[in-house]
Amino acid sequence: MRILVFNAGSSSLKFGVFDRARGAGHETRQVLKGAFARFRDGACEVTLTVDGKARSGTAPHGDLTAAIAAVPALLEAEGIAGIEAVGHRIAHGGAEFTAPALLDAQTLARIERLTPLAPLHNPANLQAVRVARDVWPDLPQVGVFDTAFHHTNPPCVTTYAVPQSWREAGLRRYGFHGTSHKYVAERAAQALARPLSELKIISVHLGNGASVCAISLGRSFESSMGLTPLEGLVMGTRSGDVDPGAFGYLQRQLGLGIEEIEQALNHESGLKGLTGSSDMRDVEDRAAGGDAAAQLAINLYAHRVRKYIGSYAAGMGGVDAVVFTGGIGENSPSMRRRICDGLDFMELRLDVDRNQSVDLSDRAAPQIQAYGARVAVIVTETAEQLQIAREVAAHLDRPEAAPRPIPVAVSGRHVHLAQAELEALFGPGYALRVKVPLRQPGNWAAEERVTLEGPKGRIEHVAILGPLRPRTQIEVSRTDSFALGIDAPVRDSGHLDGTPVVRIIGPHGAVDTDGLIVAARHVHMNPRDAEAMGLEDGQNVAVKIGQGERALTFGQVMIRVQPKAFTEMHIDTDEANAAGIGPGCEGEVIELEAHLDAG
Ligand code: ADP
Repeated sequence: MRILVFNAGSSSLKFGVFDRARGAGHETRQVLKGAFARFRDGACEVTLTVDGKARSGTAPHGDLTAAIAAVPALLEAEGIAGIEAVGHRIAHGGAEFTAPALLDAQTLARIERLTPLAPLHNPANLQAVRVARDVWPDLPQVGVFDTAFHHTNPPCVTTYAVPQSWREAGLRRYGFHGTSHKYVAERAAQALARPLSELKIISVHLGNGASVCAISLGRSFESSMGLTPLEGLVMGTRSGDVDPGAFGYLQRQLGLGIEEIEQALNHESGLKGLTGSSDMRDVEDRAAGGDAAAQLAINLYAHRVRKYIGSYAAGMGGVDAVVFTGGIGENSPSMRRRICDGLDFMELRLDVDRNQSVDLSDRAAPQIQAYGARVAVIVTETAEQLQIAREVAAHLDRPEAAPRPIPVAVSGRHVHLAQAELEALFGPGYALRVKVPLRQPGNWAAEERVTLEGPKGRIEHVAILGPLRPRTQIEVSRTDSFALGIDAPVRDSGHLDGTPVVRIIGPHGAVDTDGLIVAARHVHMNPRDAEAMGLEDGQNVAVKIGQGERALTFGQVMIRVQPKAFTEMHIDTDEANAAGIGPGCEGEVIELEAHLDAG
């Protein structure tokens, strides 16, 4: 499939053509890379790279509309034909776009309504879509959202502690650069030859815009940008974190209005505000020449990134790899070194020579940590357009899920025990007695029960499910976790690293063990049903459950395909109560983005 990708900004248009191989591997190859920049007085600069050879010059296009309209002739002149789809980068998808979306008139209207959330970015993105729909009326146009990757961030990450009416008006953290963070995390996992679903990665994107993202077991957990791309790191012209108290202070002391303050925080701050230049190369040159303002800017820049790396390692309960990308992350060994200096305490150490001699050609992702350091440090070029092309192809290629009902089972709180904990609770050599078999083949509930204890209280008569497992796992609802007074994270079964400790009490003794989780909702499915419904192992879907006024659609439901599984969705008691479901309830798998309201 041949895909044209646009990334439109207010003063530039970047574009690329990608070929996506069909079948195994799905390799995506860039055929052409282009950019129109600095629209002014009916002209602009143009750069074009075809077959690895770059050319530049000027072109008679004075704005974004004229530039896009010129692309068909440009492609023809390069002998590039057969475009099958157009992909667009859309900065802000709000809370409702959690996956790529076909850009029809209805979807465009929904995105338009999000403009107040991203007044600096979305209008140019949308303008490009409208022009492209006129230029290629017969091709599917697909939007890929910068915010979508972060829809897995938990509420404690996305919520600002502000009045309810503000939160109801949409004030929350969204996060950006998602396409880049997703790409580099996948690239890093590949370089480490380990599954992304087993890694805790901190992705550090340092370009003109800059953000850090914590990716826990394949899902974005937190990123440093918030409601808008202004929060977080020091950037080229953006301030990053400032005390919101500054607004009142500036208004009272300098008589500045909201718009002036916003303009200054977005366009006159960051490296530019500190040194007069937004370009890190200039700033580094000046610092080397003894300029004190440039030296402070570099220290401040590195300190802020280092602080985020530490805080995200704490937030995820560990880190396996830090990945640098973006113009500064890719090209500035001295900045990488400043950021990593002082992180020895978390066993993150650079190798000076490897850091200095990074070669990123052919999408390489070299490791630059010191030999023996526990945390891998990787550098790689980001490839947002390539990632957009991949997502567009995957979106258009996906099989239509044939709706069919799925039985829903409500899991009460329960414990899976490992041998050591079983013996500590019930005595040496003890064997559990099977009470009833469960619907998943080979699983059963035991006669025995245990008590859970946390700092806030006890829960008695907790079921034990067999057979024994290599590691003890305790599954409770969010309500239970409050009753215990322990903050249990939402996790897929078996992903227990960094989970909190709870006390389990049995007739023979008590054990304090980690493994306390709120189970991520999931559907067990056998391969036959998965194929019939067009679903794959590891895929996230939305499932609509219940009828009438309590009907509820659950997002982020993980499909788990196992050879002998009984096809069944598992939710916990909180979720079941929220949907008001009773025995014999069924759910219906629907597309992730299709169930979401335009509202
Ligand atoms: P954008 O976010 O606009 O895509 P880039 O990812 O291209 O931006 O990053 C631009 C930044 O990268 C600029 O601050 C530039 O100075 C910096 N940069 C590029 N090359 C180097 C280098 N060799 N050393 C230090 N900084 C660099």
